[in-house]
Amino acid sequence: MREIIEPFRIRAVEPIQFSTLEQRRQWLEEASWNPFLIDAEGVIIDLLTDSGTSAMSAAQWAAIMIGDESYAGSRSFRKFEAVVQEIFGFRHVIPTHQGRASEKILCTVLAGPGKAIPNNNHFDTTRANVEFTGAEAVDLVIDEGRDPDSLHPFKGNLDPTKLRAFLEKCRAGGREIPFGMVTITNNTGGGQPVSMANIREISAIYREFGVPFIIDACRFAENAWFIKQREPEYRDWTPKAIAQEMFRHADGATMSLKKDGFGNIGGFLALNDDALAEQCRNILILTEGFPTYGGLAGRDLEALAVGLHEVLDEHYLEYRAATTRYLAEKLNAIGIHTVQPPGGHAIYVDAKRFYPHLAPTHFPAQVLVCELYLRGGIRAVEIGSVMFGRHVDGAEVPSDRELVRLALPRRVYTQAHVNYVAEVFAETFAERNSARGLEFTYQAPILRHFTARFRPL
Ligand SMILES: *Cc1c(COP(=O)(O)O)cnc(C)c1O
Repeated sequence: MREIIEPFRIRAVEPIQFSTLEQRRQWLEEASWNPFLIDAEGVIIDLLTDSGTSAMSAAQWAAIMIGDESYAGSRSFRKFEAVVQEIFGFRHVIPTHQGRASEKILCTVLAGPGKAIPNNNHFDTTRANVEFTGAEAVDLVIDEGRDPDSLHPFKGNLDPTKLRAFLEKCRAGGREIPFGMVTITNNTGGGQPVSMANIREISAIYREFGVPFIIDACRFAENAWFIKQREPEYRDWTPKAIAQEMFRHADGATMSLKKDGFGNIGGFLALNDDALAEQCRNILILTEGFPTYGGLAGRDLEALAVGLHEVLDEHYLEYRAATTRYLAEKLNAIGIHTVQPPGGHAIYVDAKRFYPHLAPTHFPAQVLVCELYLRGGIRAVEIGSVMFGRHVDGAEVPSDRELVRLALPRRVYTQAHVNYVAEVFAETFAERNSARGLEFTYQAPILRHFTARFRPL
């Protein structure tokens, strides 16, 4: 088979700011060994997130020029609404400024104290929005989804046996489940897909228990591509037809268009239920804006309508999956362990096995994040004891995983950039025995990873 190439030509470019080792050492020190606190201009390859960092196409930029900024009944909204209805199939389309605003509105209307919301794995903002209302966010991913070495093709699947048992327990105890979810792909679980068979099965269970089924659809196109590759009966389906089939089983969706919408901002809440949609629109008016623009400008709606079609292009999706797979294979060839199989949007490096001499209380994943920045100006994110550990009675209780996430922005970096990342990894790996741990000098009581400060041991 021929090499898979970037399925685009580059017509607008943004220069990378290069820096020296000495400059980066100074910036890292000034940021107290927390790359979240480094200015983006000091970063050469930024793999912090794939959210809002996509490159827009020429067609999207052209669409921006024809945005209709009318307060009510904007033509751009009608275009956006039609595209969302075509792909997702839901009757009501409520535009928001990003995914968490959709979650906030849905949770404000439906969640609340004592209630529970099941999911494969709740993403951080979803969990926070559920818990903020006093409800419980319950994770029911299959056991393989928690095993970093399992090669299960759909590690994002929600366990139907666990779901049924949970719903039965709630029914027996009189506990309300206002809605149930599944996240495609499962971001928290490593960008792992959910199969069509699983969507169908959990949809039937939710229906049997009278629970509305909402899909967290942030990476729906990547999920559709994995279904096409891994579920034989969909091999000849287009990604769009697969997406339509996925959402046919649900009652609604929350969406961050900063992911598979090719947007730098944007989101929506889509629903079938008329009464629920009306309640949500009332909250929308309070927090986001009038129902025909929500949290967005007319020009954003135009660009997103174009992006939603482009993201379902087979050449794009083939290239997208090839990019993450290529990076994982390069790292694995060096002897670096990554969560298997490679996810849709990111690669997760196992820092515990990278630095076996560093105790979890010395933050091996944060050490790796700092080393990558220092050596190559690469910015990644720690998903380990800094993010998920806890500080109890003056002592650190570490997380069970020490991962470094390399998230790939869409259509932004070329194969040479990925080769560069692998080279920096090879150098860091060769000198891994000299790495020293870190300790906190400051930590905030919640979401401490964003603002934490460290010093080397
Ligand atoms: C990013 C994300 C969200 C939240 O979307 P924002 O646009 O960042 O508010 C929700 N769920 C998942 C799975 C996500 O990846």
